[in-house]
Amino acid sequence: MFQKILIANRGEIALRVIRACAEMGIKSVAVHSTADADAMHVRLADESVCIGPPSSTLSYLSFPAIISAAEITGADAIHPGYGFLSENAAFVQIVEDHGLSFIGPTAEHIRVMGDKITAKETMKALGVPVVPGSDGGVPDYETAVTVAEEIGYPVIIKATAGGGGKGMKLAKSPAELETAFRTARAEGKANFGNAEVYIEKYLGKPRHIEVQVFGDGKGHAVHLGERDCSLQRRHQKVLEEAPGPAIDAETRARIGKTCAEAVARINYIGAGTIEFLFEDGEFYFIEMNTRLQVEHPVTEGIFGVDLVREQIRVAQGLPLSFEQDDLQVNGHSIEVRINAEKLPNFTPSPGTIGMYHAPGGLGVRMDSALYGGYSIPPYYDSLIGKLIVHGRDRDEALSRLSRALGEIVIEGIDTTLPLFDALLAEEDILTGNYDIHWLEKWLAAHNG
Ligand code: ADP
Repeated sequence: MFQKILIANRGEIALRVIRACAEMGIKSVAVHSTADADAMHVRLADESVCIGPPSSTLSYLSFPAIISAAEITGADAIHPGYGFLSENAAFVQIVEDHGLSFIGPTAEHIRVMGDKITAKETMKALGVPVVPGSDGGVPDYETAVTVAEEIGYPVIIKATAGGGGKGMKLAKSPAELETAFRTARAEGKANFGNAEVYIEKYLGKPRHIEVQVFGDGKGHAVHLGERDCSLQRRHQKVLEEAPGPAIDAETRARIGKTCAEAVARINYIGAGTIEFLFEDGEFYFIEMNTRLQVEHPVTEGIFGVDLVREQIRVAQGLPLSFEQDDLQVNGHSIEVRINAEKLPNFTPSPGTIGMYHAPGGLGVRMDSALYGGYSIPPYYDSLIGKLIVHGRDRDEALSRLSRALGEIVIEGIDTTLPLFDALLAEEDILTGNYDIHWLEKWLAAHNG
């Protein structure tokens, strides 16, 4: 059994894993760059190792620095959190070559799902519904023209290696195809070192619905329902909720079963998220994330389970601690992502925190690595906290969110908190009537 786990990450997700370790009686090792010497994850972990300068390439993404830290501290396993090395197949291989355990899926599954074309082909073969589009990569502009005609406009060109909304371009008509095709290729090449692209039908007003799955690596898997993450800005999630306002119990059971069976068939191990666009009652697979998601707490909220604990369990060869029938939806959870960004343009706003007061009370969870006096370094992601609320139903969760937002104090920097106060005054948000374009339209209308 694991005695000590190294967490190859920072910020709130590092705390999340440290907390699970502490509750399981497992020692934790934090790694940090020089810019993070005073960070909360360093303080809360049992041990810490400085792994390099501020640049993540030389610290949080450095294989030798992280592997050496694990060896020096005698860690048994590495938890990657999300982002950084969490979906890096080569890293998993190196971890295992050093006799350490990687808390996550196999290198092979990460590789298959990390390439959007093979992911789509694999899912299609496993019976998961996919977005109509090109079968595989589209090598040149001439082929793109033919494929787009077949699918019908509008179409979206996607870099097969893309992520985080990069390498995705919309073409509403044939006139826009060439620019979209060339830009998606260029972005894929520049950001991910891979210019290959494919084409999909562009769905007009879908919701983003993702299904949480969990496998034991031995052919058994369960699903933990869905999350609705349709509120997005530049393809980045801003607010997530579970269960999805547009999904009923029958639909949940049906898509959940399809997803659980698919990952069971490939002996998937650990947490995974199968992302869909959902329109007119139909699901269309877009990608699978082979890691814990930022928004996992809303799922924990409605099922009352600890997903990180489960990840650690299955990584040691233990069975899942729940069966499908044990997983019953209880109430409603909503998460808002608090970024160190200045509205209305979401410009990064790092700096030193003055006073910090976290909200509390029944059904309120604040996952954040902030503290008063903490200096947010400018080198990393702008997410500084997640406020998660749970209520007996959606209305109660919304009132709790409103109440908790009123309690938070984060002084010294600008944050995205005012956005959520404004959203809670919107009828569409209160009724759950939004699709993936709702927020962009709302922001355009409000920022004039
Ligand atoms: P990434 O890996 O960059 O996050 P995804 O494939 O998950 O890319 O897509 C991110 C977002 O882009 C989706 O949540 C949705 O808002 C939009 N999107 C992706 N594919 C389509 C499509 N075929 N039609 C309409 N919108 C899409």
